[in-house]
Amino acid sequence: TYTYPKSQELFQRAAKVIPCGIYGHLSPAPLIPADAYPFYASRAEGSKFWDVDGNEFIDYMCAYGPMVLGYNYKPVDDAAARQYAQANCVTSPGPVMVELAEKLTDVVSMADWAFFAKNGNDVTTYATMIARKATGRKKIVLIKGGYHGVAPWTQTYGHHGVMEEDGQHTIRIRWNDFEAFKKVVDENPGDVAGFMATPYHHPTFVDNEMPLPGYWDKVQALCNAKGIVLIVDDIRCGFRLDIRGSHEYFGFKPDLVCFCKAIGNGYPISALVGTEALKNDAAKVFYTGSYWFSGAPMAAALKTINEMEAMDAVKMMTDFGENLKKGLIEVAANHGYDLKVTGHPAMPYLRITDDPTLMLHQDWCAECTKRGAFFSSHHNWFVSTAHTQEDQERTLEIADDAFEAIKKNKE
Ligand code: PMP
Repeated sequence: TYTYPKSQELFQRAAKVIPCGIYGHLSPAPLIPADAYPFYASRAEGSKFWDVDGNEFIDYMCAYGPMVLGYNYKPVDDAAARQYAQANCVTSPGPVMVELAEKLTDVVSMADWAFFAKNGNDVTTYATMIARKATGRKKIVLIKGGYHGVAPWTQTYGHHGVMEEDGQHTIRIRWNDFEAFKKVVDENPGDVAGFMATPYHHPTFVDNEMPLPGYWDKVQALCNAKGIVLIVDDIRCGFRLDIRGSHEYFGFKPDLVCFCKAIGNGYPISALVGTEALKNDAAKVFYTGSYWFSGAPMAAALKTINEMEAMDAVKMMTDFGENLKKGLIEVAANHGYDLKVTGHPAMPYLRITDDPTLMLHQDWCAECTKRGAFFSSHHNWFVSTAHTQEDQERTLEIADDAFEAIKKNKE
């Protein structure tokens, strides 16, 4: 099994000059046990990456979502390179910005306009500002356990650096609890500006949950009736469930949709799209950033969307994810374990139910990673169109060996 001396040495150096060494979602903190995981990658290609110790991994995290067509996917890299060579970060934006907006409004069913930024958090924050501008109201309703970024308004009071006031106008309710939403609307008459949620509930450390039948219909109807802006955070699901936006997968129509991750196959870009009714309000909110007009990531996004459409990327990822799920459940069952897979097959969340403490599951994911299948034990995985039949077969072999290993670990 793999060892990671160079990763660990780099991390020691990093800890001296970078807060946390590696911060945020790439931090080793949630990779349990930490010594089972690589910390630094040196190269990536297709569905795989290699760490600084030369270990090879079939990557089931896809850079936590952005990698959708495979690492170093040539058509996208070429499109970006051409744009870099012509004009990237310049005093005026390039025509590629208009082309990308036209493409997104064409592809995403509810979109009449598109706005570009860099990170998911940029556009979730912008969406709340537009909702407040459009309604003249303060409250934003969110789901408990839902993640929308790192801006103080998205965080919970008690987290370092977050003031009680930052959360003063956000109200968190349980996922799939329409009555709770109705209650919040009744208790805050004329003061709910927006409702923001992911298309389905994909928190960390717990099973992911699809919307109950009728949930989104009821939420949309109440929003429409009360003039509340319905915002979908499609940053993680976007382009993996449905190329037209995940709301199409579930059959409803939001007012604003936030995209990031899969939109540019790893190039830094995010987008907010919206309906005609909110276009003037969006225009009134002052919102911008140093790199938000950079052309190369836009050229990459344009190519990524065209490629995803042409190859029916959603179907490829769904089929791969479906087969992988079946295969892994079977391997687990052969060893006497119950592996539960929730969420959409293109971004499955896995859990071995035999041990509710998650220790066994963490142990299995660690043993898989040490053998070359990078598995997070607490976060939903991602698949890409670059994952192959061969990857799947190798993954199932690794999973099988890892089950043997966890039995030995227990002895
Ligand atoms: N919303 C969701 C659902 C996310 O998964 C993420 C990123 N993990 C964000 C928002 C924030 O995006 P970013 O980290 O690019 O700001």
